[in-house]
Amino acid sequence: MVRAVTTAKAKSNPRTTFLCLSNANSVFINTILKVISAKLYRCVFSDHTLQEKGLDTLFDEIITNPAEWDPSGLLKLRRRVDPSGPQHTCQVGCSPNMCKGEELEAFLARHQPAFDRVIYVGDGSNDYCPVLRLRSEDIVLCRTYRGLQRRIQKEGENDGLKCKVGYWGGAWEVEEYFAKFDEL
Ligand SMILES: [Zn+2]
Repeated sequence: MVRAVTTAKAKSNPRTTFLCLSNANSVFINTILKVISAKLYRCVFSDHTLQEKGLDTLFDEIITNPAEWDPSGLLKLRRRVDPSGPQHTCQVGCSPNMCKGEELEAFLARHQPAFDRVIYVGDGSNDYCPVLRLRSEDIVLCRTYRGLQRRIQKEGENDGLKCKVGYWGGAWEVEEYFAKFDEL
């Protein structure tokens, strides 16, 4: 998966913008990215290029729940949607702290002109809401035997799912999809 993403990111045509949309939290995501970066560094990059070329700079935007360590060592988690402010209006079943569909739409609105194609890689049932909002030229790469696949197969037709669906089990299959997109 790392190779698929870094290869696509390195290409200037088509230029790819990466969004990380996660219902985990910022500490978790940053830890994962740093671990992946370190791994990548061992494989590819020399010592001093790690910070500049690590995956922590790969994503153009990371949307997740804010979190931070407090001085006593406890991880303080907050909701992406502040409980004291306006709530999201999702009817698809997103949890109260974040509607991934609304977040994706807001991200796309912030990045105009519209992308030629959105490729959404997901696996959880909470990825179903954003996937429903994709257009016919977009593609979801859906991991098999997880919540997202179940929802697509059970509800997709009734809900008017428009995007193309590709399935994958291992990260190498995502790499193959990414390689094929270049040829389109
Ligand atoms: Zn939603």
